[in-house]
Amino acid sequence: MIDFSIEPEFKKKLDWMNSFVREECEMVDLLFPRASDMYDVKNSNARKIVRPLQQQVKDQELWACHLGPNLGGPGYGQVKLALMNEILGRSSWAPTIFGTQAPDTGNAEILAMFGTEEQKEKYLKPLMDGDIVSCFSMTEPQAGADPLEFECKAWQEGNEWVIDGYKWFSSNARYAEFLIVMAVTNPDNAPHERMSMFLVDAKTPGIEIIRNTKIMSDSPENEIDDGIHAFMKYNQVRVPLDAMLGEQGGAFKVAQARLGGGRIHHCMRTVGLLQRALDMMVERAVSRQTKGKLLSQHQFVQGMIADTAVDIEQFRLLILKAAWIIDNEPHGAARTHIGMCKIQLGKVFYEVAKRAVHLHGSLGVSLETPLAKMWAGAPTLAVADGPTEVHQVQVAKALLKNATPAPGFFPTDHNLTRLEQAKKKFAHLLED
Ligand SMILES: Cc1cc2nc3c(=O)[nH]c(=O)nc-3n(C[C@H](O)[C@H](O)[C@H](O)COP(=O)(O)OP(=O)(O)OC[C@H]3O[C@@H](n4cnc5c(N)ncnc54)[C@H](O)[C@@H]3O)c2cc1C
Repeated sequence: MIDFSIEPEFKKKLDWMNSFVREECEMVDLLFPRASDMYDVKNSNARKIVRPLQQQVKDQELWACHLGPNLGGPGYGQVKLALMNEILGRSSWAPTIFGTQAPDTGNAEILAMFGTEEQKEKYLKPLMDGDIVSCFSMTEPQAGADPLEFECKAWQEGNEWVIDGYKWFSSNARYAEFLIVMAVTNPDNAPHERMSMFLVDAKTPGIEIIRNTKIMSDSPENEIDDGIHAFMKYNQVRVPLDAMLGEQGGAFKVAQARLGGGRIHHCMRTVGLLQRALDMMVERAVSRQTKGKLLSQHQFVQGMIADTAVDIEQFRLLILKAAWIIDNEPHGAARTHIGMCKIQLGKVFYEVAKRAVHLHGSLGVSLETPLAKMWAGAPTLAVADGPTEVHQVQVAKALLKNATPAPGFFPTDHNLTRLEQAKKKFAHLLED
């Protein structure tokens, strides 16, 4: 059954979110545009404004809705969460104000599933309350998309694990209260059983941040190493034995626990952002005149607007289908669809950002609209959470896995062969 309706009660919540994000969160984006502002919980200027907004979200029972009922969340399925994330996508600050910002969401899921009671009390509770932030430290300077190339290692000495090696793009490490670190513990195991996951308190001696890399969508002011993505070194960092999350060699299983819903949410937030670009295109088209008529009356512009609307709607439906599969089919059934969403994210984001910037001409390439940041966000999101090609390979492999070769010289769907079959099948009726 295909049902596109939204329950009236839930629709009311979405409507509230929609106005709140436009009227409040988008204002905070303008006042505090730096990525670092979002994660620096000690930035009292921003927090003075953000804390009461977070309280309003909590009062509406819309705080950290990605959490299941066991963690105090409403247990919304992925379809509902997707619709909510679409609204949050309009604003950079909205995920922080709604308690759903990455990587804290995924890290909370890991802690909830694999942490001890003591760890949950110390880190999970303040994380879920929005009082602290965390870091997921996996990518390395020499390898990202292929974790089998990772080298940062950990070994046991008495009652401790010792972690040693480099990490790259560990977002928010400079503000994090704890880091979840992936390290090689069993180099001789099968490829996907070589690494383990560790919970590391940020104050542990030996954690060194070499620099904080900025990305192209960050504000251009200040130094290029004043960003939030840490290049770091774990210099024989010692943690207790219970810092290992999950089983020894089980890092991939732990990582998988955090990536599924998160990717869908990223994609749906992108839909919200792109819808904002389309809204701007439409307004521009009916506001500006050239060659004696409005832009909206020129067919090239009409084509751009129609293509953009179709691209966004197709992308949206693909994500909702992936979300529906997660909600309704066995665990893992949505893997291919999640990969498809991630592939499509790169393409649609580029295309829509390009058209929106272009339609705004010189204003579009200036820093005076949200479009420049959107433009710079396209390549960033195509790489983060696994580059497009990795997902293409995964989707193609899934499709090819059960394929069988054609029986003879020609494909099964060969017109002449099938015509012979059709003639045989209906011979009794064709005789006359
Ligand atoms: C904004 C942002 C935030 C991030 N935050 C974090 C974080 O908090 N923690 C963390 O650990 N990491 C983080 N990352 C890192 C991210 O996970 C990696 O960038 C990603 O996995 C790709 O790794 P890489 O950058 O090393 O690219 P590479 O692995 O070097 O890939 C570069 C290119 O090589 C090609 N390629 C790679 N693999 C294949 C393949 N199998 N087939 C064909 N072509 C291929 C693709 O064109 C790809 O784009 C973040 C990245 C970004 C952009």
